[in-house]
Amino acid sequence: MDVVRTCLPDARVRVLTGNMNISLLAELTAEFQPDIVWVPDGVRAAELAEILRVKGIETEILTGEDGLTACAVYDPVNIVVNALVGKAGLAPTLAAIKAGKDIALANKESLVTAGGLIMELARDNSVRIVPIDSEHSAILQCLQGVAAVLPGKCIDAAKRLNTGFTGNDEGSGSAINHSYSAVEKIILTASGGPFRTWPKERISTATATDALRHPNWAMGPKITIDSATLMNKGLELIEAMWLFGQPIENVEILVHPQSIIHSMVQFIDGSVMAQLGLPDMRLPILYALSVPERVATGYPRLDFLTAGNLTFEAPDTERFPCLALAKHAAEVGGTLPAVMNAVNEWAVGQFLADKIGFYGISALIAEAFGSYTVREVKDIADIRDAETWAMEFIQKR
Ligand code: MG
Repeated sequence: MDVVRTCLPDARVRVLTGNMNISLLAELTAEFQPDIVWVPDGVRAAELAEILRVKGIETEILTGEDGLTACAVYDPVNIVVNALVGKAGLAPTLAAIKAGKDIALANKESLVTAGGLIMELARDNSVRIVPIDSEHSAILQCLQGVAAVLPGKCIDAAKRLNTGFTGNDEGSGSAINHSYSAVEKIILTASGGPFRTWPKERISTATATDALRHPNWAMGPKITIDSATLMNKGLELIEAMWLFGQPIENVEILVHPQSIIHSMVQFIDGSVMAQLGLPDMRLPILYALSVPERVATGYPRLDFLTAGNLTFEAPDTERFPCLALAKHAAEVGGTLPAVMNAVNEWAVGQFLADKIGFYGISALIAEAFGSYTVREVKDIADIRDAETWAMEFIQKR
């Protein structure tokens, strides 16, 4: 909301959605005057309606899954910012694509579970899927001029890789050396999270409070725990494969504790492009809303003289087994990423509630992998079946 407030004076916020923080949602509703506000249920809708009534604001309030879909397809909207948490983000993403809305996507889980379906649907509906995730925004910025946000770019990119296509189908003729066939690998950077330097014994006793202390980024609890386990990087690996049409062997994960380089692209001539900046989520959010243009901001600037050294390490899958599990899911594909995502989402909730330990998360996912038979993803029902299997697996334990 700060991005819209401070950088995009011409943008009109038509729809707002919120979950728990009804008073903040009411404040934002008063400020941005959306046509529709969504909350999960009737209890929160009543709470919000009462605050808005006192403020003298009339806004339609929707609830439930159907209401969320109605928000995603609301006619006057041309870009949907999907920042829902977890697997709940998939249905609105698909509905918005079918309605021809461009998507600024922070909900990486929808690409992890159904990337193939989403990218294909985006191509068929001439819809752009623009990442908000800072690493993927960085990759997109490194690929500027590569037609990276054209409709169905994933499919096109995969074709180019396979056929050695070196042209630029936008017709500007200036991007020949930057086409996808010139990409040798994507280097996805990771902060390493709060336990980067901890020995395994200490990590095994880590609490939710410890894990919620992320060194660089201010984010919600689910993604912060995912960052501590490195599952977040595993999810981002799969996200990068779909967004940029890359096979797993072309995506390398590199720990970079300062979070200044947000990711890099290495080209076939050995040249490397990197995108740098302070770790501030407003930058990738703004870029997703303005791409390919850049918008002036008054946000703090990176000062190289005070930034200190930039350092790099290999990720440690021994201490962070979730990363190895995610790589396995990426390699196997099919419905396995959906099962992993569902089990992880549940396990993270259990860890946050102090019901399981830190390594309980990866142990549960490994156990699920051991007893699940992977299937091909043909449509959304296959994803739903996989998620249902995951929930039954959890309940049976
Ligand atoms: Mg990220």
